Amino acid sequence: MAQYQRIAQIIKNKPVGELIEIRGWLRTRRDSKGFSFLEVNDGSCLANIQIVADDTLANYADEILRLSTGCSVKISGLLAQSPAKGQDIEIQARRVEVVGWADPETYPLQKKRHSFEFLREIAHLRPRSNSLGAVTRVRSALSFAVHCFFNERGFCQIHTPIITTSDCEGAGEMFTVTTLDLNNLAQTNGRPDFEKDFFGRQASLTVSGQLEAEIYCQAMGNVYTFGPTFRAENSNTSRHLAEFWMIEPEMAFCDLNQDIEVAQAFIKYLVQYALDNCAEDLALFSKFVDKDLAAKLEMVVNNDFARITYSEAVDRLQHAEKLFAFPVEWGSDLQSEHERYLTEEVFKRPLIVTDYPKTIKPFYMRVNDDNKTVAAMDILVPGIGEIIGGSQREERLEVLINRIQELGLNQPDYEWYLDLRRYGSVPHAGFGLGFERIIQFVTGMANIREVIPFPRTPGSAAL
Ligand code: ATP
Ligand code: MN
Repeated sequence: MAQYQRIAQIIKNKPVGELIEIRGWLRTRRDSKGFSFLEVNDGSCLANIQIVADDTLANYADEILRLSTGCSVKISGLLAQSPAKGQDIEIQARRVEVVGWADPETYPLQKKRHSFEFLREIAHLRPRSNSLGAVTRVRSALSFAVHCFFNERGFCQIHTPIITTSDCEGAGEMFTVTTLDLNNLAQTNGRPDFEKDFFGRQASLTVSGQLEAEIYCQAMGNVYTFGPTFRAENSNTSRHLAEFWMIEPEMAFCDLNQDIEVAQAFIKYLVQYALDNCAEDLALFSKFVDKDLAAKLEMVVNNDFARITYSEAVDRLQHAEKLFAFPVEWGSDLQSEHERYLTEEVFKRPLIVTDYPKTIKPFYMRVNDDNKTVAAMDILVPGIGEIIGGSQREERLEVLINRIQELGLNQPDYEWYLDLRRYGSVPHAGFGLGFERIIQFVTGMANIREVIPFPRTPGSAAL
């Protein structure tokens, strides 16, 4: 009996002389006199394995010679050293079973390279392409690495809710979750009657797990969440999705400097993990997607990030030679073009910007002694801009109440949050890393739609 093995394992262990079985999808077939070469991929790695199928096989003429790209097959045979150039092993087939045919007239994925735009239109088939398969493996590896990082440091993972009744950012970019009959909407004073809704109040998809993570942080010490996040922001950019995954650690007895240290260590850890575990896939991206990728990733793990305050950043931008589409003044948020100029052209490495004006940041960030800025930090990386946003949280009850009133928020909604400052309050801090943005950074993919299996963007949600 042939032993079923994944191609990645076979390439690693090279069990020459063993009878093995592989299962996968045909990439190409080339015919020679008396035999055919089949290239099969099973998703376990970028490399295909070559199969030599000769015309003594029972189904050679009526099946093997009809195999085309995309067919699924089960093949068993002897693993042998390959005499051919380009690979060192091959399988000499004893049996080729066609599991599923793929009509070559209509199968959209041919051997040639397709554009990413085209691949997006076939979301159900694109993971079979080399590049999207590679992204998929890197994403899976980094998802595992996220848990390794926090587990090694004794963090507790918290599953914060996906359906929520609190708006963390207060930005009004939330998707409402409702079972109200939209064709016959119950209304009071022209507004939907959410009291009659499923939860008896308006509920939404979460925009951040931070506030809930803070609750657990102030019981468990160090915690993190890693889950889907939803933002109904109408930004059709190469780095925004309406549904994305975010990692949000929250640390007790922690200030902004410690927060920054963890954030920097985390990014370096993820990049190093990819370098160590996804070398073959990264080599593909270096070759076809971003020629400077390898140097960029090495630069990140080998250098400390640069660090400036928001005020220094504004100063640099105002004195820059470059013309920006958006003017820069103290008090306005940095635009993507500003962020990228600073990290790509001025510092040429990841950049931490701290101490933003309180007027452009949410209520929960800790007010600095100048009463103008807050203990916030963003981490910017070349090619993308903001990858992490974080802050030390306001732990002082009076100051927090002032901020809530200053911003005109409805204080009763935040009583539970204020309770955490009334009872055993501690300095604490955290940040959010956009998972897709780090995948973009590690793979060099220009568009965020390529690094999540099923991208959701304004006007588009396939499947
Ligand atoms: P940006 O300024 O890029 O719109 P933000 O400041 O609104 O981001 P935060 O609320 O600070 O984002 O969220 C933390 C992190 O989540 C960001 O640093 C980014 O990595 C990621 N992120 C935010 N919004 C999106 C989005 N729409 N799609 C993908 N990732 C996102
Ligand atoms: Mn941010």
